[in-house]
Amino acid sequence: MAFMSASASSTDGADPTRKRVLLAKPRGYCAGVDRAVQTVEQALDHYGAPVYVRKQIVHNLYVVQALEERGAIFVEENDEVPEGAIVVFSAHGVAPEVHEQAAARNLRTIDATCPLVTKVHNEARRFADDDYDILLIGHEGHEEVVGTSGEAPQNIRLVDGPESVADVEVRDPERVVWLSQTTLSVDETLETVGALREKFPLLQSPPSDDICYATQNRQAAVKAISPQVELFLVVGSPNSSNSVRMVEVALAAGAASAYLVENAAAIDPQWLEGVSTVGVSSGASVPEILVDGALAWLAERGFGTVDEVAHTEERLTFALPRELRREMGGAATSG
Ligand code: SF4
Repeated sequence: MAFMSASASSTDGADPTRKRVLLAKPRGYCAGVDRAVQTVEQALDHYGAPVYVRKQIVHNLYVVQALEERGAIFVEENDEVPEGAIVVFSAHGVAPEVHEQAAARNLRTIDATCPLVTKVHNEARRFADDDYDILLIGHEGHEEVVGTSGEAPQNIRLVDGPESVADVEVRDPERVVWLSQTTLSVDETLETVGALREKFPLLQSPPSDDICYATQNRQAAVKAISPQVELFLVVGSPNSSNSVRMVEVALAAGAASAYLVENAAAIDPQWLEGVSTVGVSSGASVPEILVDGALAWLAERGFGTVDEVAHTEERLTFALPRELRREMGGAATSG
């Protein structure tokens, strides 16, 4: 890279008038996204084009376009896939009825649902089997929420933020549990849970965190930097829930301004007026090449000094979907 880079875990003592970038770590690809993208790439290598993919494999335009160039065809629903063809299900997960529709059309499916989303599906099924009302905290219409809700539509009630708690009704307030989408704001979710608990004091919590490690780590890294910056740029697509949440977290944590940008071309030079320190991070579905582009854009405008501020080291990787490993005859992992 053409810019100065200092790997640092502390920024104490920096000259406040010096133009610089504080680059959050971790940022970008999580284990689930890495696995999902590699699933499509390996399927293309193994079977040849075309490989159909239901919905955006991950919520990033660059990734989707790059895979399209290699022969992936993105569809909204199974009925757009020719009978007998291969279809990959996206990282966000699908409802059981989507598997049923695929079987009815004789599709060969590869399920790239992130294992951490599958964990929430399993929780939903288990609590539904025990006849709980499940209060699913999440954003209405998001693919992950649609998929999780499909596991137990009779038992799940969507709670879309603290303001919607007043409308929540349950059958038995002694048999209620909350679960959540994996990519929410940690702080807002705690607020929603607090409001739910006031209404339902016997509300049970999920057996383990539903907001995934990657979402939590990226938000914590943004939070650590935000008080020091006048501008925070989060690279990510507008339909990427975890990316949008990072902008909100930056603002709440003290960044004077924060924007979500698809790539360097979307940065408005006017945002730099009066700015000496820029925070940069990227959502869990964003390849590093887009961050490099944003850093190069900033370097051309005098922000060539980049201090990487490390919050957490991530080492998690997931094995590729079983269906694909079996076909490929090996125990390939995604990272
Ligand atoms: Fe999995 Fe979390 Fe990445 Fe979503 S953001 S794909 S849940 S690791």
